Amino acid sequence: MKTSERLSDSYTDLARQYVDKVFEIVQSRNPGEVEFQQAVKEVFDSLVPVLAKKPHYIKQAILERIVEPERMISFRVPWIDDQGNVNVNRGFRVQFNSAIGPYKGGLRFHPSVNASIIKFLGFEQIFKNSLTGQPIGGGKGGSDFDPKGKSDVEIMRFTQSFMTELSKYIGPDIDVPAGDIGVGAKEIGYMFGQYKRMRGGFESGVLTGKGINYGGSLARKEATGYGTVYFVEEMLKDKDLSFEGSTVVVSGSGNVSIYAIEKAQQLGAKVVACSDSGGYIYDENGIDLSTVKRLKEVEGKRISEYVKEHPQALYVQGFSGIWSIPCDIALPCATQNEINENAAQVLVSNGVKAIGEGANMPSTLDAIDVFLSNGVLFAPAKAANAGGVSVSALEMAQNSARLSWTFEEVDSKLHEIMKNIYRESMNAAEEYGAPGNLVVGANIAGFVKVADAMIMQGVI
Ligand code: NAP
Repeated sequence: MKTSERLSDSYTDLARQYVDKVFEIVQSRNPGEVEFQQAVKEVFDSLVPVLAKKPHYIKQAILERIVEPERMISFRVPWIDDQGNVNVNRGFRVQFNSAIGPYKGGLRFHPSVNASIIKFLGFEQIFKNSLTGQPIGGGKGGSDFDPKGKSDVEIMRFTQSFMTELSKYIGPDIDVPAGDIGVGAKEIGYMFGQYKRMRGGFESGVLTGKGINYGGSLARKEATGYGTVYFVEEMLKDKDLSFEGSTVVVSGSGNVSIYAIEKAQQLGAKVVACSDSGGYIYDENGIDLSTVKRLKEVEGKRISEYVKEHPQALYVQGFSGIWSIPCDIALPCATQNEINENAAQVLVSNGVKAIGEGANMPSTLDAIDVFLSNGVLFAPAKAANAGGVSVSALEMAQNSARLSWTFEEVDSKLHEIMKNIYRESMNAAEEYGAPGNLVVGANIAGFVKVADAMIMQGVI
């Protein structure tokens, strides 16, 4: 063995020891926060080759600093329901990292929301936002409020109460929230109204995902779903594959799913299944998206209603069975950890060729191992679903310039951004000895820019 190889091995050992040591600190400082620990582990495991090559990151304690949010806010959200009862929910905002720009990330309203979920999402957001090439830091927030079954007036009262507290911590150059699960255009509108009222000024850049008539961007609604498909298209192209003629399964039937289905269909794919938290539909002729859009976007109904209008389709209760449907491309677009090791094995044995993560962390670490070890093309969330936040940053740019671009302009910028993220992730994977591994590539490409900015700004 040459001296240079021996040296490189010893740097790798050092880097591995450092990563393990910091991960132990993360476990002991964040007990029981399994989702947050899972997100950290995935990133840390990718970073060993970078730390071996750039040991000054170790000296600068970059990992110890990057896993600690700059600020974590937790607050009471009291509100009165239609029966006159007082309810109390918990609100969160994690302002994780502002090395390359103001904190940016969505708000999630779902009963499962807790500190661990918000921190995992905020941590991922740091690297995702860096990958977009735009000047945005990482943040995330939300509440354990369940918007399902609530009247419009209850949602308004809740969001006003939520924003009354959150408004103290955000601003167009400080922290810019957007939507996520359970937070769509309606909730953003109510929150924007309350923020404007509290500030006494029209700060359009404080939230993204706004209505088009008061500062929103065309193509923001479509951006995450379209972006995921654009990313997967690049990945397929490299292997001489395409959406054209492929069978696709998409989980969920919310914002990301609907526009992933739309773009996949435009590219000639047959999308045969989608779901909600109650169950999934299977339509072997291909899903009629106009029915799904009406049921979900307009009428707020369950996906089970689809089969009443399309009797040839099947509805199956239970959410996870969707992964037993044979397909060429699977796009998990609902929620975290929806594909476990077993589901991944079933997908592989049914011949799946590619996975594109539209949701955040939809595959467990074991599931990812199954895909990678079986040669399935795998587009990780951090890179593949970065289209939403990219167009949010374009919305901020339009707000600052007091301009609005056409749908085509925004969509073509989104397409270019997704192609760039794909290229940068592939290049980083190649440079650090894991050719073709987009999990490693996306983590490294996102990390290096943030770590360098942190070092340039001193120990803060
Ligand atoms: P959404 O519009 O609220 O839709 C979520 C969909 O997933 C719904 O069909 C929902 O079913 C289902 N779902 C939610 N929680 C579930 C659970 N615990 N088990 C099973 N199904 C569940 O949300 P979205 O904006 O599309 O977000 C979906 C995913 O994409 C999330 O992981 C989010 O973090 C990620 N993401 C979103 C954006 C964005 O721009 N919106 C950007 C990047 C990443 P029900 O209606 O029955 O609850």
